[in-house]
Amino acid sequence: MIVVGAIIEALDQAFHFSTQDTWDNSGLIVGDPESEATGAICSVDITESVVDEAISLGYNVIIAHHPILFRPLKRLNYADEEQRLIAKAIKNDINLIAVHTPLDKTPIKGTSATVGAKLGLTDMRILVPEQYSFGECGYGVIGTLDKTVSSAEFLSHVAKTLNCQTISHNGIQKESIKTVALCTGSSIEFASKAELQHADAYITADIKYHQMASSEKMLIMDIGHFESEKVSTDIFLRELQEKFPNFALRISNASENIIKYYINTDGK
Ligand SMILES: [Zn+2]
Repeated sequence: MIVVGAIIEALDQAFHFSTQDTWDNSGLIVGDPESEATGAICSVDITESVVDEAISLGYNVIIAHHPILFRPLKRLNYADEEQRLIAKAIKNDINLIAVHTPLDKTPIKGTSATVGAKLGLTDMRILVPEQYSFGECGYGVIGTLDKTVSSAEFLSHVAKTLNCQTISHNGIQKESIKTVALCTGSSIEFASKAELQHADAYITADIKYHQMASSEKMLIMDIGHFESEKVSTDIFLRELQEKFPNFALRISNASENIIKYYINTDGK
């Protein structure tokens, strides 16, 4: 029998919950660590469709990248979607776990490092390192491509590799992009660190209009929040499959981008 607490422990060993930012809420958000885990689904977000999927599968654990709750909850009176979802999870004995900023900060198998590897970056190091007793972790990665590419070639490579329908960028035309920095999620604040470390391009998400103008040297790209973090479900699955080979695990079919795109194809 696998208890929910054992899953939390495995995730903690791999991703170090203690590294989470003060505003974050990673860990077991709803549930009972002593209850038996009947199966787990991995998702980027906890939405009603994901909770319904868990219920219909008979799996009582959801492991998500984004926590369902960030603020303290004073009442549970079904006043909003968040509360309704939490109540639904409790009524159905569903355990909700989030691994948010610890996953972002984990070297080698965290979100940024995994996206960096997918893009073919080598010699990767942490962009914004933090020191802990167990070693170094931190936000973002910086590494090098095996051959230099132009801005247009790099945009195409990123869009294809990460399956992005659109990429917003600052239009900097470079002939030779070799050093690339990235940080998954909303992380334009680290663009200056990337520039200081001589990155030719910086990839992140949720960039506001004026923030896009924060560099005249680097190609800055907004690939979309979900697109940058959807690797999180693969990371959870791989980690838990290794530790619990006979446990029922799957990536949620309902884990999808909250943002939908309208593509204007008639060119007007
Ligand atoms: Zn995120």
